[in-house]
Amino acid sequence: MTAPVRRAAAPAPLLHEGDLPPARHYIDGAFLDAQHEQFTDVVDPCTEEVIARIPEGGAADVDRAVRAALAAQERWARLVPADRSALLHRIAGRLADHADVVVRLEMANTGKPLAVARDDVDGTIDTFRFMAGALRATTSMAAGEYATDHLSVILREPLGVVGVVTPWNYPLMMAAWKLAPALAAGNSVVIKPSEQTPLTTLKFAELVGDLLPAGVVNVVTGLGPTVGHRLAEHPDIAMVALTGSVGSGRAVARTAADTLKRVHLELGGKAPVVVFEDADLKAAASALRTAGYWNSGQECGAGCRVLVHASVADRFVEHLVREVGEIVVGDPRAGEDVEMGSLVSKAHYDRVLAHLDKAVAGGARAVVGGGALDGPGWFVAPTVLTDVSEGAEIAREEVFGPVVTVETFTDEDEAVRRANDVPFGLAASVWTESGRRGHSVAARLDFGTVWVNAHLTLANEVPWGGFKGSGYGRDLSLYALDDYARTKHVMHHHGR
Ligand code: NAD
Repeated sequence: MTAPVRRAAAPAPLLHEGDLPPARHYIDGAFLDAQHEQFTDVVDPCTEEVIARIPEGGAADVDRAVRAALAAQERWARLVPADRSALLHRIAGRLADHADVVVRLEMANTGKPLAVARDDVDGTIDTFRFMAGALRATTSMAAGEYATDHLSVILREPLGVVGVVTPWNYPLMMAAWKLAPALAAGNSVVIKPSEQTPLTTLKFAELVGDLLPAGVVNVVTGLGPTVGHRLAEHPDIAMVALTGSVGSGRAVARTAADTLKRVHLELGGKAPVVVFEDADLKAAASALRTAGYWNSGQECGAGCRVLVHASVADRFVEHLVREVGEIVVGDPRAGEDVEMGSLVSKAHYDRVLAHLDKAVAGGARAVVGGGALDGPGWFVAPTVLTDVSEGAEIAREEVFGPVVTVETFTDEDEAVRRANDVPFGLAASVWTESGRRGHSVAARLDFGTVWVNAHLTLANEVPWGGFKGSGYGRDLSLYALDDYARTKHVMHHHGR
């Protein structure tokens, strides 16, 4: 068995004086004090040190933010696309000018290595740039006469105030995936970042607040069942968009049903990686080194469940073991070549380790990793599990850690059936040199994104979102812009 180690970190601090954003809600263009006295510790998961204390907001804070958002929305919506677009471009530019501090905050709050944090921030900037461009190109169906002497015009309108709830795995990027299309479409926003990772969302407000009219973007920090719940419940919020776990998605959809507001859910995943006997096995293993372990596998699209044809399974596992055994693990301070950092929290680390223990007790074999790495910090070794039986919990439930399981199959129908046999439907990949098989298997896979001979490649121009338990609604692309708008038909009678 290969045993990855954690590289020692240099003692240099990641954060300097002035890097941290104000630890307060951002409402109506200003950082305000909370109206109560509970706080959540924000922790660096690599050092276990508390780096900030963030207020736990309540319903009153949400209500105040919604009032500000409502007051600001109409004027924001009236800006012509060119003007809203210019502001979104300025947001992207401001973020690019301050990318260094945002990257360091994200590393300190999540334990991500530099490559991942930089990719998050670059992706965030590009999301704003894409939406700034896309909003100027939006149009609706051409006007026409569909009833005698009646001219129909179709308008696309903003929804109003959008409530946004984000997770801890890509704190700023997930915020951008909602904020950019919501703002582009003319909505105002109240956003609640994850209580574990609120720093870059607050920093965003600090950095770009002066570019936007007061009230267009508001940040309320706090817990899901209080702040998130109030966003889903509030009668003046037109839509709630959440990225998070299935449980939180269900809670939000249930609460939102009372006001019949729109719901947009990006939930969990369990992406199968289907490797056929004619695949380039080396390329597939090399791609999984990134796709399975990027962000420590805390990635809803992670390629975490390999289904490989039995005839090539040994050769594939050999390649995978070599790749995964070479992953450089460490704190972000341990060098720019670190590929994998810690997990986000002690609770999540315990959860991932419990999954591993249970899988091994059930007969799975760790051929790389398999357990925790030395502390301080919540590090789990990049792990490959073989001898995973069909239907095993480790291959069906979202582990959300650096763990890839390997199962085998013997024919195409079996591969498709077993790949689809999970409650999630976010992403999958197919590895084959056959064009026929690549297309036909991709068409039969029940997932919102299917890659052929790739995994986890994203672009702002193309949609991201799931089927089944992974939720509904699309992030990124023109589809996201459309999700944050409503359609109105205006009919003019011009007969005499
Ligand atoms: P989580 O569900 O615990 O928390 C997500 C957010 O929801 C947090 O801000 C939390 O405070 C809030 N929340 C929790 N309970 C709530 C409630 N009752 N009402 C309203 N809000 C509530 O998820 P997490 O642990 O932060 O993130 C990991 C999960 O997110 C994983 O399941 C992952 O697959 C998913 N995720 C999905 C995507 C995607 O694009 N599909 C992207 C990233 C993460």
